[in-house]
Amino acid sequence: TKLPAFHQRLPAVHSVGKVPLGIKRKGLRIVVTGGAGFVGSHLVDRLIARGDSVIVVDNFFTGRKENVMHHFGNPRFELIRHDVVEPLLLEVDQIYHLACPASPVHYKFNPVKTIISCFLFLIVGARFLLTSTSEVYGDPLQHPQKETYWGNVNPIAQCMGLGLHLALGPARVTFVLDSELSETLPAVAGCILHRTPSVCFLFQTATFFSSNNLKDTWNSTTGPRLGIPGYRQRGNGKENGVRSCYDEGKRTAETLTMDYHRGAGVEVRIARIFNTYGPRMCLDDGRVVSNFVAQALRKEPLTVYGDGKQTRSFQYVSDLVEGLMRLMEGEHVGPFNLGNPGEFTMLELAKVVQETIDPDARIEYRPNTEDDPHKRKPDIGRAKELLGWEPKVDLRKGLPLMVSDFRQRIFGDHKESAS
Ligand code: NAD
Ligand code: UDP
Repeated sequence: TKLPAFHQRLPAVHSVGKVPLGIKRKGLRIVVTGGAGFVGSHLVDRLIARGDSVIVVDNFFTGRKENVMHHFGNPRFELIRHDVVEPLLLEVDQIYHLACPASPVHYKFNPVKTIISCFLFLIVGARFLLTSTSEVYGDPLQHPQKETYWGNVNPIAQCMGLGLHLALGPARVTFVLDSELSETLPAVAGCILHRTPSVCFLFQTATFFSSNNLKDTWNSTTGPRLGIPGYRQRGNGKENGVRSCYDEGKRTAETLTMDYHRGAGVEVRIARIFNTYGPRMCLDDGRVVSNFVAQALRKEPLTVYGDGKQTRSFQYVSDLVEGLMRLMEGEHVGPFNLGNPGEFTMLELAKVVQETIDPDARIEYRPNTEDDPHKRKPDIGRAKELLGWEPKVDLRKGLPLMVSDFRQRIFGDHKESAS
């Protein structure tokens, strides 16, 4: 395939080609990045069951081999330990890009890396599905959220001056590359400068430097060395914008996905996933459903953050997988909201967990995290109409399925559940 010039400069994480016409094969060849994680492993099960050949690419940051171990030995299954920020050449028909830590605890761990995991890819020929997120709506001012809503994300570009400064040219960035900034920064700065379409340049630069640890490093080292005064700080100056590595990473991923589509004719699909739960979630990943279920089973108090009146809409994983596959196979690019419109406050969720596991489970209030969205509920009209999709499993039906998996993993003979 002849690539447009700007593509040749992009980082080749996945460079792939379709099966040439005339060659018949049974099933498709499909890459699932992040396929050893919670959602990815359920998707892999469905694809293998359908008769496809699946290559899972995962660095096991939050995923586990146990989630896909039941496919070992199947000639239609391959597992590659690989970090998607590094190049990898594969020939496949479809790519589901799920690799990215999804729990706030995990994605805040290395914010810069979270951003690049969201959007680094080069696709040639294969159909690419991006798993974006309801977080692109931020703390939404529209309720429920439609795909047409542009969102209310807090990017806190605390160093807009630096963003502009970097934009002046590669020579300036060399200073940053030489600085004591985190290991991943050079990769990020490099790819901003040389590889990503310029339309994302300023926006991304500002976002990268909004991270607080980078800000500290900047204030103490790089800034003074370059003779540039500190930040023009926005907002209330509190530690905030901490979710932006994820939110803005996914927003940028959507932008790039559409740029590949519009600029190079790549077949793409975009899913905006709302809070999803089910078996194989990490036991202690900090997300509310996994926290409450594990806490109730361990006879610990359920930790409700803030006043517990914030809402989320919880989707069972099998519904999500069905939606992702319909989206991939369908004719529409999206974005599509994939979520269950059943909306619960955290206190209501705690009540369902009490009813399902332990009516005596206590509730313990904890301070909420910064920038926590107050409410979230998908409008799924578009997915209903164009994909013929809607969720089937409500919270009271789905939760017990997850509980039996958690029970087995917490109390079982250390054998991880794969069902
Ligand atoms: P998860 O953390 O269980 O799975 C992510 C997987 O990606 C893990 O196996 C992890 O090891 C792998 N991974 C992370 N960084 C990687 C890297 N740099 N290279 C290779 N592998 C890497 O999360 P999940 O809940 O299964 O989420 C899957 C996708 O769906 C994510 O992209 C997430 O943003 C998106 N999503 C999930 C939810 C949800 O509620 N579960 C909601 C919105 C969006
Ligand atoms: N939350 C909570 N107790 C917990 C973990 C989370 O009350 O032990 C709250 C959190 O403040 C947020 C909601 O639950 O309002 C959903 O958090 P989660 O991390 O699961 O998902 P996200 O915030 O990414 O939607």
